[in-house]
Amino acid sequence: MRLWVVALFAVALSASSPSAQTNSARTLDIYVIDVEGGNATLFVSPMGESLLIDSGNAGAGAVRDAERIVAAAKAAGLTSIDTLITTHWHGDHYGGMAELAARLPIRTFMDHGPNVQPASATDDFLQKVYPQLYAKGQHRVAKPGDKVPMAGLNVTIVSSAGEVLRTPLPGGGSPNPSCANFKPGQGNAEDPMSVGTYVTYGRFRTVHLGDLTKQKEFELLCPSNRIGVVDVFLGLHHGVDSSNSEVIHGLHPRVAIMNNGTRKGGPPDVMKVVFSSPGLEDLWQMHFSQLGGQEYTVPGLFIANLLDEPSTAMPIAPIAAPPPGPGAPPAPVHNGQAFWIKVSAKADGSFTVTNTRNQFSKTYAAVSK
Ligand SMILES: [Zn+2]
Ligand SMILES: [Zn+2]
Repeated sequence: MRLWVVALFAVALSASSPSAQTNSARTLDIYVIDVEGGNATLFVSPMGESLLIDSGNAGAGAVRDAERIVAAAKAAGLTSIDTLITTHWHGDHYGGMAELAARLPIRTFMDHGPNVQPASATDDFLQKVYPQLYAKGQHRVAKPGDKVPMAGLNVTIVSSAGEVLRTPLPGGGSPNPSCANFKPGQGNAEDPMSVGTYVTYGRFRTVHLGDLTKQKEFELLCPSNRIGVVDVFLGLHHGVDSSNSEVIHGLHPRVAIMNNGTRKGGPPDVMKVVFSSPGLEDLWQMHFSQLGGQEYTVPGLFIANLLDEPSTAMPIAPIAAPPPGPGAPPAPVHNGQAFWIKVSAKADGSFTVTNTRNQFSKTYAAVSK
């Protein structure tokens, strides 16, 4: 909740009708926070209610990422998080949760249910830490079609625990011509479990699908697209190629915001799918990706973060991701000052995206859809 909600409420009570000026200035604000190729996306409703999707990285990045989330929450005037959705049990999505909860109270914890990809650190967290965190609040297991209560918004779960929404959302249900081009991809056990969340504010629509894989994108968006079109497509699974099949073209996003790392996500195949998405006006990136190189990247103006040791020139050619394992060279590091990408959406469907590193912002006028 925001501190000023109480004050606002008092003002609303004292005035017979809030001015049109005040109404049109109210925005849904979305903070896409840099957690180094993990995820942390914060929604703050016009009335100051909050929804956080994921809490950044585990291990050495946990305190860094928790503090980056707190910085965005403070900028939004929050003193607590109303709902935290953990999309799935990978360390780049739940990793900063305990550190965040120690800094900012969290009221409701939502997830897809038990971990289906055994891993000692995760299973340990779920047995020993998580129950203590939600004991102070509420725990909900998400199912497709569930709503997250936020006044003035429609927040609907579209996927969870491998199940996807079967009934189209209002505006959804049309055939998706991109399904003809579907090619299945690789995956692990937890990514397909991801909680996907669809959010509308008036005529503004956005969706965050966690790390939902190509197969699940297909189940959700084919043969009919149960989501419909969105203004902003959030996350894109860090821009990695186990997600982002061509069926996402059915979402017809005007803007995509990719939560990629310096060497995670953004390879040529994914970039080609995103750039060829019909109606896409802009892609915004959390970082430059070495996997895309200059050949596949957006202008720096649309990239939120630099490196701790900035390179003098951006390599033109993409590099192949080094094979994972103890011998893999480290990705370029970014532990210093981090910047979020902010989306401010109005009920008429118009929205502004701002790169807080360079203050570049662009307003996308409302369109009929
Ligand atoms: Zn960064
Ligand atoms: Zn991830």
